[in-house]
Amino acid sequence: MTKTETAAADVLDIDRIRRDFPMLSSVMNGHGLVYLDNAATTQKPSAVIDRMAAFLRHEYATIHRGVYTFSQLSTAECDTVREKCRRFLNAGRASEIIFVRGATEAVNLVAAGFGRKFLKKGDEILISQIEHHSNIVPWQRLCEEKGLTLKIIPVNDRGEIILEEFQKLLGARTYLVSIGHVSNALGTVNPIREMTRLAHHAGAWVLVDGAQGAPHFRVDVREIDCDFYCFSGHKIYGPTGIGVLYAKAKHLDAMDPYQTGGDMIESVTFEKTTYAKPPAKFEAGTPAIAEIIGLGAALDYLGKLDWEAVTAHERELLTHATEKLSAIPGLKIIGTAAEKASLVSFSLEGIHPHDIGTVLDQEGIAIRAGHHCAQPTMKRFGVPATARASFAFYNTKEEIDKLARGVKKVLEIFK
Ligand code: PMP
Repeated sequence: MTKTETAAADVLDIDRIRRDFPMLSSVMNGHGLVYLDNAATTQKPSAVIDRMAAFLRHEYATIHRGVYTFSQLSTAECDTVREKCRRFLNAGRASEIIFVRGATEAVNLVAAGFGRKFLKKGDEILISQIEHHSNIVPWQRLCEEKGLTLKIIPVNDRGEIILEEFQKLLGARTYLVSIGHVSNALGTVNPIREMTRLAHHAGAWVLVDGAQGAPHFRVDVREIDCDFYCFSGHKIYGPTGIGVLYAKAKHLDAMDPYQTGGDMIESVTFEKTTYAKPPAKFEAGTPAIAEIIGLGAALDYLGKLDWEAVTAHERELLTHATEKLSAIPGLKIIGTAAEKASLVSFSLEGIHPHDIGTVLDQEGIAIRAGHHCAQPTMKRFGVPATARASFAFYNTKEEIDKLARGVKKVLEIFK
């Protein structure tokens, strides 16, 4: 063990952390589960599961509408979670935090509420070549609807955004740059601070899709200075069905609501409706109350971890996986950026990624095989799909060794 490894292991106490996540002691096909599909969704600590169960058992009531005690308590709890989200992203105000279903809904909200209102025929939206479909398709639809142009920032053969090309694409018509913090298919960490600076300099607004960023990095939206940032609760150890859109207050004030109905109005008559102030303006209908509470518990859990140690540990996992996997004959790692999150996408010569996934499943190892909702990324690298192992802070080097042994078994079976 190197000095950093010892330090990370000491502070993190991986064995104890693993005991916090009941799913990690599951058995799959006769083997202890090796869960390496964290980029798709992370496992939940007991703190989240228990908090949600306790809330549903003993505290559950709707928010905002009730005059009775349980409803008031629920409302206060949800307000507390909004404040926790503000702190998690270091946003300036809690009213800049909008609860959504997840990153997908957040991008759709901005496309509808911001894009549809402000972008005009001929305006341009820039996205990168390695975006998740949820940061492609909403913009494509908006472009079709409004006669806008979608421009694509290319990546090099390592999967890194080519900043000079980005600068060339930024122009007087660029209205919005929408960029992933981290590529879910390759692991590339994009230079979002620099890109935001350049975009602002060109007079464009910036959305950062943080679905793969928030799980790995301490995010500071004021330091990044992006206009919008979003993430999904289920990828940061919280429940599904809840996520966050951060937006600068000035945008939320100016934007149109995304959905309309209950809870988002100031007054309604048959002649005219006026809207509530943000965040309520963007949260029509009864929200995912128990999931908001669960998200709060996940943030509390993460808040107790030493993030320097988490980052160091995840970096070690990435290095170890890269070394182990690249030593396997015929294995090619797709995505070799200098800055990567703890994720390795790979292909095996002559073997379909689904076959890799199926053999590994029999060994108790859960990885993702497919296009990872990033078909243009696959196209850029000339593959239909990849196998992807993605790591969380509760993963260990031993699990990566099992993965490497499993991949060798795949080779034996298919040779
Ligand atoms: N963006 C990225 C980079 C993602 O990895 C994902 C989920 N795979 C999403 C957006 C969409 O997140 P969700 O499905 O939780 O809305």
